[in-house]
Amino acid sequence: MKVISNYINGQLIAPQSGQYIDVYDPSVGEVYAKLSDSDNRDVGQAVQAAKKAFPVWSGMTTEKRSAILLKIAQGIEANFEKLALAESIDNGKPLKLAQEVDIPRAASNFHFFATGLIHFASESHSMEEGAINYTLRTPIGVVGCISPWNLPLYLFTWKIAPALAAGNCVVAKPSEITPMTAFLLSEICIEAGLPAGVLNIVHGYGNKVGQAIAEHPQITAISFTGGTVTGAHIAKIAAPMFKKLSLELGGKNPAIIFADCNYEKMLDTVMRSSFANQGQICLCGSRIFVERPLYEKFKLDFVQRTAQLKVGDPLLENSNLGAIVSEPHMNKVLSYIDLAKQEGGTILTGGKRVKLEERCKNGWFLEPTVIEGLSYDCRTNQEEIFGPVVTIMPFDTEEEVLMYANSTQYGLASSVWTENLSRAHRIAAELKTGIIWTNCWLLRDLRTPFGGMKNSGVGREGGWEAMRFFTEAKNVCIKY
Ligand code: NAD
Repeated sequence: MKVISNYINGQLIAPQSGQYIDVYDPSVGEVYAKLSDSDNRDVGQAVQAAKKAFPVWSGMTTEKRSAILLKIAQGIEANFEKLALAESIDNGKPLKLAQEVDIPRAASNFHFFATGLIHFASESHSMEEGAINYTLRTPIGVVGCISPWNLPLYLFTWKIAPALAAGNCVVAKPSEITPMTAFLLSEICIEAGLPAGVLNIVHGYGNKVGQAIAEHPQITAISFTGGTVTGAHIAKIAAPMFKKLSLELGGKNPAIIFADCNYEKMLDTVMRSSFANQGQICLCGSRIFVERPLYEKFKLDFVQRTAQLKVGDPLLENSNLGAIVSEPHMNKVLSYIDLAKQEGGTILTGGKRVKLEERCKNGWFLEPTVIEGLSYDCRTNQEEIFGPVVTIMPFDTEEEVLMYANSTQYGLASSVWTENLSRAHRIAAELKTGIIWTNCWLLRDLRTPFGGMKNSGVGREGGWEAMRFFTEAKNVCIKY
């Protein structure tokens, strides 16, 4: 059985506790690897290694740092098939999705920030009083990066790459539910010649390793992606120490469909935005609002297409949906389907666990589910389910749909479908979400600010936003 070690000070090492956690393959429902059950001792060791490496890494020329990070990007590309397979086994996602989205994007994250760091510049402001200000942007020191299970390597590298590019040393923790590709990344970093201690990956539970990262006084900035409750907990620990925080949290994203949309393009994309990765993408649109003249047609076509989706072995080419990431998460999603029924919802398709045969007979699979007949403010439409479950609802006016869309505690992303340009701009200005996709979904330009409003987070990732987060700005004012 594969053993997942920590990566500390350039070495793959066992946790101090000597204990290991079971890692499951969700498509077969069985343990397939053992994960280091680390604690604050391992985090302490990682922080010491990171501190020691910091002068060398932060003092390196940008060209040299860039070259090492590019080698990591190339290492991801060279191990493409291995990483995609590992991601699919660890997470339950269709192999095809890992090949098309997760792993290429992980390589892009390193490539993007490795090249970006060469162009990272600071501002200067001259004054009529005969003075000039210039901003120095210096790396922070040792930073913490904590990531979730839904897009394991994709989101892990989305934090680590800018943190390293900006000249910091990192103590990182992937989700204990999907740690495999982070472990494979540590092997790639060793091969790429990343100096010891620059990146340290400490595996284990959130309430031990994550907590220790949040609490450690020498980790002075934390970039976290995960649930809103966990984010609030980290913020509480970090606030009295005035740590810099970037929090990317939960969502309950609306998809707003106007009758004048390009129907076929919309239908294809809304199928994806509803059920990609079994609906376990923080950006999936789980509340679908359809302008009334289009509602019945949309309902018929959408339900029919959803019912035709194949839930199957993630390793098979023709599976549209793979497994749900864990048994507890599957049960949580099922409990929300029960709640929807109690709240008066009608299940138009799906709603049940899927029992596959042979290899996957004990796996955790769910039918893609469409529900109608619920009010915008019921729990099903307000709480994050994070599974292959969407609700559909008609609306009559822009004001009404904006009220529905903005009614939740979340404000991560939304998608809008209309061919009316004025309306597209009007709606975008009124939506209270950090990301708005019009006539598309998950079309990502890595230069753009990424993140949520309200309880979906604090701060933005992406492009210069990330480089600025991972540096301290110092203004120097010189009078001449
Ligand atoms: P989670 O909050 O349970 O865990 C996220 C990470 O935090 C894991 O590594 C976990 O071990 C760690 N953690 C848990 N307790 C901790 C603690 N006390 N201190 C420090 N770290 C701790 O989230 P999850 O279930 O892994 O992921 C799903 C959630 O992530 C959903 O809410 C989803 O919307 C959100 N998400 C958000 C984005 C975004 O960009 N906004 C992207 C992906 C996922």
